[in-house]
Amino acid sequence: MNELKRKKLNVMLENFILKQSSELLTRASMGWIYALSYDKKFLIQNFELKKTYKKDLKKKNKWFKQKKSSKNFDLFKELQELDTIKGRWEYIKKINLLRNLPIFMDSFESENDKIAIQLAREFLSSNEKLNILVLGAGCCGLFFANNLKKKLGQLVNILVCENRVQKSRIIEPYSRNWLTNLPKFLFNKKVDTDVTKVFDWFSNGDYIGVKLNMIEILLLESCKNKDIKFLFKEDPYDDLIKEPEIDLIVDATAGKVHEYYPNHKEKNILLKIPTNKKNDYLEFFLKETKNYHYPFFLNKQIINYHFKIVGIKENLLASITEYINNNNHDNIFYVWVGKLIKELNEILIIINIKEESLEIFYHLLKKKIPIEKFEQFIEKIKSKVDYRIIKLVKIILKTKTKDDEIYLEPPFSFSPRIKLFNKNLPKFYNKIIIPIGDSYYTGNAKVGNGLGMHLLYIDELAKTIKECF
Ligand SMILES: Cc1cc2nc3c(=O)[nH]c(=O)nc-3n(C[C@H](O)[C@H](O)[C@H](O)COP(=O)(O)OP(=O)(O)OC[C@H]3O[C@@H](n4cnc5c(N)ncnc54)[C@H](O)[C@@H]3O)c2cc1C
Repeated sequence: MNELKRKKLNVMLENFILKQSSELLTRASMGWIYALSYDKKFLIQNFELKKTYKKDLKKKNKWFKQKKSSKNFDLFKELQELDTIKGRWEYIKKINLLRNLPIFMDSFESENDKIAIQLAREFLSSNEKLNILVLGAGCCGLFFANNLKKKLGQLVNILVCENRVQKSRIIEPYSRNWLTNLPKFLFNKKVDTDVTKVFDWFSNGDYIGVKLNMIEILLLESCKNKDIKFLFKEDPYDDLIKEPEIDLIVDATAGKVHEYYPNHKEKNILLKIPTNKKNDYLEFFLKETKNYHYPFFLNKQIINYHFKIVGIKENLLASITEYINNNNHDNIFYVWVGKLIKELNEILIIINIKEESLEIFYHLLKKKIPIEKFEQFIEKIKSKVDYRIIKLVKIILKTKTKDDEIYLEPPFSFSPRIKLFNKNLPKFYNKIIIPIGDSYYTGNAKVGNGLGMHLLYIDELAKTIKECF
């Protein structure tokens, strides 16, 4: 776009983002306060596990030779042609396990990296249109792209880059089959109706309910249909980012490109959050590491660890809640009943892990394992972990049917952080870079201040961008 319009865009974005920043800090702090109030028995002091198991998982995935599959593959058509809701559900579940479908290819299919980058630069070099580079094809990057394209149509060129690849030009399938808790209004009229129609097949009431990797694959296909371009490549995108006609970089990498941001001037910030009592505050110190601020309370970083049990059918709810309600004084268990139609619905259980048993769970759950496999370790670990976890697993095993596929997932941490801005918006290669989603702040899944609130913010951001036209 021309220089004048770009200046206008920069001013409007700056006004929007700096004005919203204190509200976003309040939203983020809801997750910290929950951890301090309800999960306080599980807060951890010095234990930061740095291992990542994704690589192991990646290697175990099989590489299927690319079939000469039809280029006209369209996920929405394929789903539409199936007669039953159950059939459609099974299909969309399966899609994310397959690796050789055209949907996983980028927009420069047969080209090598050098040519793909060159073509991508050309795509973003129009000086009439708004040129946007989105880093990260997760839920927030895809939602932003879809939402803004719907608002601006031909006025915008959007290229989405992703580095989680099988190899250049092919993205890894989306694997996070986690239930979500997102109201429908966040999507209705904001993304393509093809996507919301699919949500409606599976969802019960006002919530979407479908799993995170389903939202991602649907948004990916819809973005492609709307002529948003994709570049899937492992290496950094610096060559592309230098393109002078790029007007805006949107960071949707969940915080992976922290080095693109300038340091914040204030390393330690005191934050006072009012409680319900008059003249009473919670005092947090926000301490900076790698351009993010992490909250500390009474000199300790807020951090705790959990793992999830997923795939539990809704009909097991009664026996599970009976046990949990009587054995949950310290909030070790968090039960979330999904929002899918009855025949598909599931329960998710998040279990807090005590510091002393963290290593055991990291060791056992290097990758997700079926609950039957976990049973084999019970004798060995039962004296070392909280007995309630063992008891709950036994109840589930006793009540589940042979066909239920229930898994224990690898541990993960809640170590919240937030990006704070200096007076001006950050720039990388002289272009404004805007963090969205988990690149902005990480929410607490138990409070609902994460993904849902990210999408709300992204829609407001897209509206602000639209106002420039
Ligand atoms: C362990 C854990 C469990 C959670 N459980 C749930 C749950 O059960 N239900 C729920 O609703 N929410 C859950 N959440 C929250 C939810 O996952 C996040 O809110 C959501 O994924 C944020 O979306 P995002 O697009 O910002 O980040 P992500 O979904 O993480 O997407 C970031 C994308 O950027 C890509 N990327 C990274 N670096 C680069 C780079 N340099 N260049 C290009 N691309 C890059 C990544 O590969 C990824 O595809 C959980 C979060 C965590 C961490």
